Amino acid sequence: MKKETLCVQAGYTPKNGEARILPIYQSTTFKYESSEQMGRLFDLEESGYFYTRLQNPTNDAVAAKIAALEGGVAAMLTSSGQAANFYAIFNICEAGDHVVSSAQIYGGTFNLLNVTLRKLGIETTFVDVDASEEEIAAAFKPNTKVLFGETISNPSINVLDIEKFARVAHNHGVPLIVDNTFATPINCRPFEWGADIVTHSTTKYMDGHAMTVGGAIVDSGNFDWQAHAEKFPGLTTPDESYHGLTYTEHFGKLAYITKATSQLMRDLGSIQAPHNAFLLNVGLETLHLRMERHCKNALAVAKWLEANPKVAWVNYCDLPSNKYYSLAKKYMPNGSCGVMSFGLKGSRKDAEQFMDRLKLIAIVTHVADARTCVLHPASHTHRQLTEQQLVEAGVAPDLIRLSVGIENVDDIIADMQQAMEA
Ligand SMILES: *Cc1c(COP(=O)(O)O)cnc(C)c1O
Repeated sequence: MKKETLCVQAGYTPKNGEARILPIYQSTTFKYESSEQMGRLFDLEESGYFYTRLQNPTNDAVAAKIAALEGGVAAMLTSSGQAANFYAIFNICEAGDHVVSSAQIYGGTFNLLNVTLRKLGIETTFVDVDASEEEIAAAFKPNTKVLFGETISNPSINVLDIEKFARVAHNHGVPLIVDNTFATPINCRPFEWGADIVTHSTTKYMDGHAMTVGGAIVDSGNFDWQAHAEKFPGLTTPDESYHGLTYTEHFGKLAYITKATSQLMRDLGSIQAPHNAFLLNVGLETLHLRMERHCKNALAVAKWLEANPKVAWVNYCDLPSNKYYSLAKKYMPNGSCGVMSFGLKGSRKDAEQFMDRLKLIAIVTHVADARTCVLHPASHTHRQLTEQQLVEAGVAPDLIRLSVGIENVDDIIADMQQAMEA
């Protein structure tokens, strides 16, 4: 089925007489007739529900919809996008291992790699998102286990050359993980370009209404762990915590997601609440409609800003003048996302006053939901930094991040117009 149909229908098909809408299984636990059957579930010999930390029918239906949308074999929901990226990496890396990552990624993920994973003994080398194949390859070490990047980076809006990154990863016998949060599978399916694992902060467009924090990991099932068995012992050698079961032998293409669920989720426990999964599913039902409108509105706003004499610069990858335009058109021919950044002519103070005068457009930390919003990183998320440090971090002091919503675009532009004139 096509993506639009999957958004509405995938993941849950009621049988005769069952609820038409995906039910919320608001239950921690599940009942069995015999203790022997329960034992088989604990040994992973039989599949079935027993405890919501490991699996829940509401979550599974929503994960199945996201897997279908990405064209993967299976997915797992997590409590946040941060948990998704942590699990996606930690599922195949342990102390003594090494990661290569694009440097232009979400700040939270950068800290995860640069600070917290280092404390766990996992080192990361960052490469520029525009690095050549040779430069990316030069960052690899014998203990490198994964290459990481974002389809469209938050907040700098760089576009990842997924095919290039996938080639370098596969030449070194490791998978490429792509965080596809901003593009969503509606605009880009990284598996079609060679990515092996996709992650999401479902908090953003997938939920789309700023209601629930959540994440997801999707496995393409394409990476051949067995062919590089010595690099991935966690998948290819017996797991003592499951009586010596080997994930690749037992689960084949589902090895990676099964290990993430039955080992990491069992031990670390960042599950998505079933009620949140239900709300996420309501969001997913309109994802295709919303992404189309986000992109259409954003392009109109970006063109208006570019033509405006009060505006110094605009960074949006769907503008023909943008550095990433050709990559954006290659990977996202129908549009990228609704997020952009721009600077006003004038001082940092002018930027703050402009934002304070907005009436419809709200100042919030969030991005990528139905309501248009702005953030001034120099005054908010990056406010501890000096002007010099801001420049080094790639956050111009005048940079305003704008997340264009799905309202009527004339009202969005009129609000910006009146704030600029004032
Ligand atoms: C927001 C975001 C995250 C983190 O997700 P949370 O749901 O806030 O934990 C990760 N990656 C990207 C690209 C994001 O935009």
